[in-house]
Amino acid sequence: MTAQIIDGKAIAAAIRAEIAQEVARMKEVHGVVPGLATVLVGDRKDSQTYVRMKKKACAEVGITSFGYDLPADASQERVIQLVRELNANPEVDGILVQLPLPGHIDEEAVLSEIDITKDVDGFHPVNIGRLAMKGRKPLFVPCTPRGIIELLDRTGIEIEGKRAVVLGRSNIVGLPVSMLLLHRNATLTICHSRTRNLPEVTRQADILVAAIGRAEFVRGDWIKPGAAVIDVGVNAVDDPTRKKGYRLVGDVKFDEAREVAGYITPVPGGVGPMTIAMLLKNTLDARKRRLGELR
Ligand code: NAP
Repeated sequence: MTAQIIDGKAIAAAIRAEIAQEVARMKEVHGVVPGLATVLVGDRKDSQTYVRMKKKACAEVGITSFGYDLPADASQERVIQLVRELNANPEVDGILVQLPLPGHIDEEAVLSEIDITKDVDGFHPVNIGRLAMKGRKPLFVPCTPRGIIELLDRTGIEIEGKRAVVLGRSNIVGLPVSMLLLHRNATLTICHSRTRNLPEVTRQADILVAAIGRAEFVRGDWIKPGAAVIDVGVNAVDDPTRKKGYRLVGDVKFDEAREVAGYITPVPGGVGPMTIAMLLKNTLDARKRRLGELR
């Protein structure tokens, strides 16, 4: 069997086009567009790149972005003060504090200050808490996990009653995607660095989500024939044939896995593009909620 490749780039492009249409409609009907504030503390190159990509994506769909750059030695109080100002700013629907923050700043203290109605990254403890509870609804779901569910849904992969195995239990990906799969009535197993006999567990998965950050760790014979494999990992491996000297690979050994799986996401071009698309969707949702169009 050769797996169907799930084209995250194309699915994300379709979602972005839908968002652009909704933003245009909002402007026509209400005379407003959603606004996203990005907060970048310090000068990490990767964080600068992510923030730049997010602002560009906003511009492409008609969402206004407001960028706030603070120096690496900015105090925790200064960052919190900025978050409070953004909470009070009516033009700002979503607040994104780019992680990781410099070591002297307590991440939870900052994220807890974000107004939960503007928490478009979905990392506020209240939103995560609601996500973890049965029958409660978070206002926002973290972007990468939301993107993974959207990929499954738009590919027509059923979740209910399926056996899902998630590799990784981070706050950003593994844990929230597990909660979402559970809410959708999958039978769930979460694996981590202390899990024993990992291949034995993964071979039971109808849906396998790999989010561990280990290059090509999951081999073809770890996969149940016909399974849907969602590869979240982004790992740089040396490649002298490339201009940059490296290439990006996932947590799954793609060439082996595609011979066994029913569906598989590539890296790059699978989950990655969905993350920013979901940030835009969360920002749109924030303004729709303020306009009374979304509960
Ligand atoms: P993380 O915070 O480092 O968490 C890694 C998780 O994997 C931990 O739960 C860890 O277990 C588990 N793990 C590590 N080695 C393992 C092993 N050998 N066997 C089983 N479990 C193992 O990473 P993350 O932030 O979740 O990111 C995971 C990957 O996804 C990274 O490659 C990251 O770059 C990528 N990512 C991609 C996107 C995107 O948009 N495409 C977004 C976010 C992250 P313990 O809990 O026991 O330590």
